[in-house]
Amino acid sequence: MERVYNFSAGPSILPTPVLLKIQAELLDYQGSGQSVMEMSHRSEDFIKIADTAEVDLRELLAIPANYKVLFLQGGASLQFTMIPMNLMSKHKKADFINTGEWSKKAALEAKRYGEVRIVASSEDKNFNYIPNFSASDFSSDADYIHYVSNNTIFGTRLVKFPEVKDKVLVCDMSSDILSKPIDVSKFGLIFAGAQKNMGIAGLTVVIIRDDLLGLVPNLPPMLDFKVQADNASMYNTPSCFSIYVAGLVFKWLKELGGLKEIEKINEAKAKLLYDYLDQSSFFAPTISNPKDRSIMNLCFLSASKESDAAFVKYATQKGLVNLKGHRSVGGMRASLYNGMPLEGVIELIRVMSEFEGLQA
Ligand SMILES: *Cc1c(COP(=O)(O)O)cnc(C)c1O
Repeated sequence: MERVYNFSAGPSILPTPVLLKIQAELLDYQGSGQSVMEMSHRSEDFIKIADTAEVDLRELLAIPANYKVLFLQGGASLQFTMIPMNLMSKHKKADFINTGEWSKKAALEAKRYGEVRIVASSEDKNFNYIPNFSASDFSSDADYIHYVSNNTIFGTRLVKFPEVKDKVLVCDMSSDILSKPIDVSKFGLIFAGAQKNMGIAGLTVVIIRDDLLGLVPNLPPMLDFKVQADNASMYNTPSCFSIYVAGLVFKWLKELGGLKEIEKINEAKAKLLYDYLDQSSFFAPTISNPKDRSIMNLCFLSASKESDAAFVKYATQKGLVNLKGHRSVGGMRASLYNGMPLEGVIELIRVMSEFEGLQA
């Protein structure tokens, strides 16, 4: 069987060694005689899987001791609800940096629980740049400040986190968590769906500072960060298999040398493709300012909608799949998450040049 290079934005490509490990352990997890899919979440084997995943994630991201790691469900989208529910406690206000579809959806949801202020936005140009803002733009009475570190749909990123002084910074890292080292202590809360850069769908990781737990009384227990933290994310049955897969991805990253190492690889992969796009007379990147360009989701266009479609079809025939861009941008999008090997990017560029040559 041939495996393709999968450029999907999510669910997305997994490292091959992780898939092979899953395959090897599928019927008999380490001599237990059962699959992880069949295990009780209260069993010794599974508790060890979950505990080890947390320890490895803490090590990879250097998560300080005063932060809890939660393994939840409901996707990043449920966090758009849980965060205002749990954090709009004092002034019932939040500031948002609006850089795309996901910040917009999060802001819309937060409005149900309090006042939302858009501090900066790039919506005027279909989110093709990162807007300017500074610490003084944030309201003194905002319960938290929300932003998205990497805009999966539009292909932009914020390289530096916003300086918010002593305010609570919340970040949606769904599409770039574990792509590089970060300073967790700058954040009040970090969240990410696992299916982009951390594993498979079904798991949402939340990293939350201790003092932000239990600010709002009487929340539905499943939606209360404190209840989830007090029960080690096992108030109910967690998404066991997704936690197991994420744990394997964490081990794979550690063996590779950690986040400094994967960052070098990710920067190199993205540079290769952007360098090609910048010199191409047929393809062009949609994000013109290099400092705003995502290294995870690279968006580009050709001369017309027709040639975009023809290229996507051509690439698919060559085993390069899911390159069609999001409908709100059009063109193509190549997601180069951790699991995408350098060879996949080299092959993509080869096929792009080949296609470009055929147009002459
Ligand atoms: C995909 C994505 C989401 C939505 O994730 P779900 O897990 O499908 O809810 C939210 N934010 C960002 C930045 C994303 O890339």
